[in-house]
Amino acid sequence: MATCKWCERSGWLLSLSANGMCDTCEVTEVPLIVRRVEAIQESKSVVDSARTFQARIESCDDIIRTAEELIPYELKGISVAEPSAAELKAAYEAERQKIVAEQLSARSREGRVQGQPGEGP
Ligand SMILES: [Zn+2]
Repeated sequence: MATCKWCERSGWLLSLSANGMCDTCEVTEVPLIVRRVEAIQESKSVVDSARTFQARIESCDDIIRTAEELIPYELKGISVAEPSAAELKAAYEAERQKIVAEQLSARSREGRVQGQPGEGP
């Protein structure tokens, strides 16, 4: 018997898509998944290219939040992204910490330069 991975509806005549969802879920959920995956891609390029600390941090937060919305699909065995949403969330939590650490060390370097004029790097 076929069972939809998302809504858990099951039946002998239920046809499932390649990712294990019934027709109804395929129509309602897949566009939501695709939109979130696209949003993550856009935010990723902002993290890589943005010049301001604020923009990079906000994009990390967007990725983490959006990945969290995708994790319930993965918990039901529906593959939504490669690497997985859970991996993306962990990776961008680490990235966010790295950006914060870089910002703090850049600040403290500036502080030293101003505090000790004449001393080179
Ligand atoms: Zn379903």
